[in-house]
Amino acid sequence: MSNRIKARRAAAVTAPEIVRDQAIVSSFLSDAAHVPGGFADGVVFPRDEAEAASLVAHASRVLPVGAQSSLTGGATPRGDVVLSTRALTTLGQPANGRIRVGAGVPLHALQRSLAASAQYYPPVPTFDGAFVGGTIATNAAGAATFKHGSTRRWVEAITVVLANGDVLDVARGETRANAEGWFEIELTTGEARRVPVPQYVMPDVPKLSAGYYAAPEMDLIDLFIGAEGTLGIVIEATLRIIARPQRIAALIRCADDRQAVALTATLRDNAIAAWHKQGPLDVAAIEYMDARALRAVPDDAFARAGVTRPSGQSVMLLVQIELGSDAESALGRLQSVLTSTGIEDDPHLALAGDDRGAERLFNLREAVPSSVNAIVAATKQTHPEVEKTAGDMVVPFTRLAESIALYRTAFETRGIDYAIWGHVSDGNLHPNVVPHSFEEVRRGREAILEMARRVVAMGGAPLAEHGVGRSALKQQLLRELYGPDGIDQMRAVKRALDPEWKLAPGVLFSA
Ligand SMILES: Cc1cc2nc3c(=O)[nH]c(=O)nc-3n(C[C@H](O)[C@H](O)[C@H](O)COP(=O)(O)OP(=O)(O)OC[C@H]3O[C@@H](n4cnc5c(N)ncnc54)[C@H](O)[C@@H]3O)c2cc1C
Repeated sequence: MSNRIKARRAAAVTAPEIVRDQAIVSSFLSDAAHVPGGFADGVVFPRDEAEAASLVAHASRVLPVGAQSSLTGGATPRGDVVLSTRALTTLGQPANGRIRVGAGVPLHALQRSLAASAQYYPPVPTFDGAFVGGTIATNAAGAATFKHGSTRRWVEAITVVLANGDVLDVARGETRANAEGWFEIELTTGEARRVPVPQYVMPDVPKLSAGYYAAPEMDLIDLFIGAEGTLGIVIEATLRIIARPQRIAALIRCADDRQAVALTATLRDNAIAAWHKQGPLDVAAIEYMDARALRAVPDDAFARAGVTRPSGQSVMLLVQIELGSDAESALGRLQSVLTSTGIEDDPHLALAGDDRGAERLFNLREAVPSSVNAIVAATKQTHPEVEKTAGDMVVPFTRLAESIALYRTAFETRGIDYAIWGHVSDGNLHPNVVPHSFEEVRRGREAILEMARRVVAMGGAPLAEHGVGRSALKQQLLRELYGPDGIDQMRAVKRALDPEWKLAPGVLFSA
């Protein structure tokens, strides 16, 4: 183990053509945050490491993109050459619980290929069209982070193109920062770059996508995971995989927030017992949809799911249970937990093997963000400055009830319509403005800033899984989390690896 690593030269090839045909470029000018005004100096589709390296070596600003499902504007070009990873589609054979994958492989394609051998890649975000490289760059997380952790835990090795066009093969466990807190990267020119580890302390939360990872004697691979393309371009990765779990999905109506939080706490306790082989109820994920979020969902989405729209203050939880050998004990235990928490309705269940039933329930969960996004888009028609305005807050689970009350008060005292949903088993919720005017968006940003400050004070973070990107608000939240000194420490890392500020400039922080 050393703090030193040597870069290698990619094979010499001609740089791929930069496509400047506006008909093609125009489809790369925005990401899922729909921030207007994206513009690019062309788009390029390297087919391998050598083509990517050759392009980067000669370019002045490059924005790597995957599926452009970023919710932060991080994949929206601002005059960069867009490096689309979609032609990096290597897909190796799974062996020994590992698979080697190109950065441009969409997660659904990876899962489909793994399903053939009854295997599975667990840390998937809700949007499974995201590319492997994009999920590594944002340390994506999802519903089942509660059991399986975020992307970071599953990445064993990466091949990265650095800003000068050199290539680095980084394998977990091979390169660690020394006790003084730095790595040394030897470039192919012979120059040694000293990369300092930031000194801030990361909050102790189950998921975090808030700039550079930092810890004493950290592994170099963790610096690139979650760096949002600012330190290097991920070309390929070796991922850990597991045997495909059998799953039950259960949609449960709770009378109100208080009951939903109590049920979540009991289910979490049961899950932790199950992981220690002390119980049958192995819960992997609990998703939360509040009454306001459910009100945004149209009737036909409930009809397709075969679910009656709940009334009043009802909250819904969608629970994923992984099965050992004994489905009956798991269901029996679930029933007794529901009874002891005072849940009145029977849950809607999709049993193991009932993929269509499970899909119907997951589609209802997905109808929540898409319905709110549709309201945002409709408001934009008459108020063009309106944009999606949402928090991505995570708190230690013991502070969950307090955090929900905080989100509600922050919106309600400002007279803002809103909805809350998210990955409640992690204490990670998305308080969203449901805007009817730009004024609500403006006040919504204020509310999110207030939430962020209070969440940080609770030991949580305002940047759980979507990252920071080029969003002014999220960059402000990053400063709230680590302070200006913390941002300067991140800049020092960037300067060491990318002194010309070539890769994803303006993502995470300004120059
Ligand atoms: C409906 C919906 C639901 C979502 N749910 C979740 C969720 O549950 N959890 C979650 O974490 N996120 C979620 N997201 C956000 C998004 O899907 C994730 O951030 C995802 O990881 C982005 O992957 P991508 O391939 O689309 O990357 P892009 O959006 O293309 O890029 C994101 C960032 O990564 C950088 N990047 C992309 N590829 C590379 C590469 N090969 N090397 C270096 N840098 C690169 C880009 O420069 C950019 O800064 C959701 C998005 C949508 C639209």
